[in-house]
Amino acid sequence: MTIPAKDINLPILHLIGEEADKLHLECYVIGGWVRDLLLHRHSKDIDVVVVGSGIELARAVALRLGKGAHLAVFKTYGTAQVKKGEQEVEFVGARRESYRHESRNPIVEDGTLEDDQNRRDFTINALAICLNSDRYGVLLDPFGGIDDLQEGIIRTPLDPDITFSDDPLRMMRGIRFATQLGFYLDRETFDAIERNRERIGIITKERIVDELQKIMLSRKPSVGWLLLDKTGLLPLIFPELSALKGIETVEGRGHKDVFLHTLKVLDNVADKSDNLWLRWAALLHDIGKPRSKQWEPNTGWTFKNHNYIGAKMLQGIFKRMKLPLNDKLDYVRKLVDLHMRPINLIEDTVTDSAVRRLLFEAGDDIDDLMLLCDADITSKNEEKVQRYHRNYELVRQKMRELEERDRIRNFQPPVMGEEIMQLLGLEPCKEVGELKMAVKDAILDGIIPNEHDAAKAYLLQIAAERGIGKVKGER
Ligand code: ATP
Ligand code: MG
Repeated sequence: MTIPAKDINLPILHLIGEEADKLHLECYVIGGWVRDLLLHRHSKDIDVVVVGSGIELARAVALRLGKGAHLAVFKTYGTAQVKKGEQEVEFVGARRESYRHESRNPIVEDGTLEDDQNRRDFTINALAICLNSDRYGVLLDPFGGIDDLQEGIIRTPLDPDITFSDDPLRMMRGIRFATQLGFYLDRETFDAIERNRERIGIITKERIVDELQKIMLSRKPSVGWLLLDKTGLLPLIFPELSALKGIETVEGRGHKDVFLHTLKVLDNVADKSDNLWLRWAALLHDIGKPRSKQWEPNTGWTFKNHNYIGAKMLQGIFKRMKLPLNDKLDYVRKLVDLHMRPINLIEDTVTDSAVRRLLFEAGDDIDDLMLLCDADITSKNEEKVQRYHRNYELVRQKMRELEERDRIRNFQPPVMGEEIMQLLGLEPCKEVGELKMAVKDAILDGIIPNEHDAAKAYLLQIAAERGIGKVKGER
């Protein structure tokens, strides 16, 4: 099969082919770029395999591109990278790989194009298009990758047990491609993942998380998490999520399956937002439920404080999973912690103070929080769903009104620590913090308006009542 040259008319590909001709080297564009070309997906990085020295061809290409081109050679790996502007091309010599049991790093020897295609993880990733001018556009598809692309199937080129045992990261990649592309895992491939799942233990967390992030950014991330569960990988890489599974029944009363509910919430969020960390918050919003679950004879199943317990689990989870321990963690933790608050604001009797406090605590993340809460409505009863959405609309309305009046969202106390110390002649001490907090509380509770003069007067009043500091001028 030949791909029409007009479909592969990137100038850089012609140029690579010409340079390869001059060096009498056979060369192919291979892997993800070819797959994405045929799927009409955008793909940036280009991988070129050369029968012979990839580094030699890379040097020639960099030279020909001239000014602005950057060449990086990785001698130990026999690879080289050429970059110019946005364009990035990896060059590698065709190779044969053999594996040892303890490591996913193979022993590498020079090989043919066929050897190189054999070492690829999936049939759809083993497609190669020739770039030499006499065969430009000729597609080499030894494993039926084109058929699998058309049918939407993820399948290993060789015996899947060997493919996965050699490099267990491929199990994660397979599930990731199924999720990203909306493909099915071929039955034998699926069964081999299940059989080889324990091998995931030799893969670093960083690589696993890389794949999880790609799953999370897919259009329907639940697909990946369900496959991780069905293949038995989930308890090995994310036991806390696995613990959400199942329904317990006491006196004929069950609760909902928190895992399936969670995945629905995640997809709901993914429909509305590309924010990766909001998606993580959705995945983790009920992570504290198994630890807080109780059966109470008069009430039934309860999950008291599960939001709080969940928020406390996150640091440990992020650390183990090598997720970032920075403001992303803070953001996810905040949303998990606060996700039960809006529902408590739907009653008519709710005070303005409670609404102000939520606005204050959520700050600029309030819209994300409300999006998560809306996504959290997964009842099958349509009438209930509509009612819950309406309730949240009312909460939003209350928030808008209060925000307009009191500007709480990005609240900064109108009297700051410096001013408190100066007014009362205090050195930095515990009381300064307490006074500042009392002023903040008074504003959130609506005792005083969110204004400097009122706050200052209130500060002086409570300081006097508590006998703290001296008002300026006193000795
Ligand atoms: P994406 O770039 O979207 O993550 P990709 O398929 O291009 O997908 P890369 O990691 O860029 O993935 O790898 C490029 C190619 O290298 C793949 O298409 C595949 O042929 C091969 N490859 C990558 N990782 C492996 C692996 N672990 N085992 C076998 N082949 C692999
Ligand atoms: Mg790629």
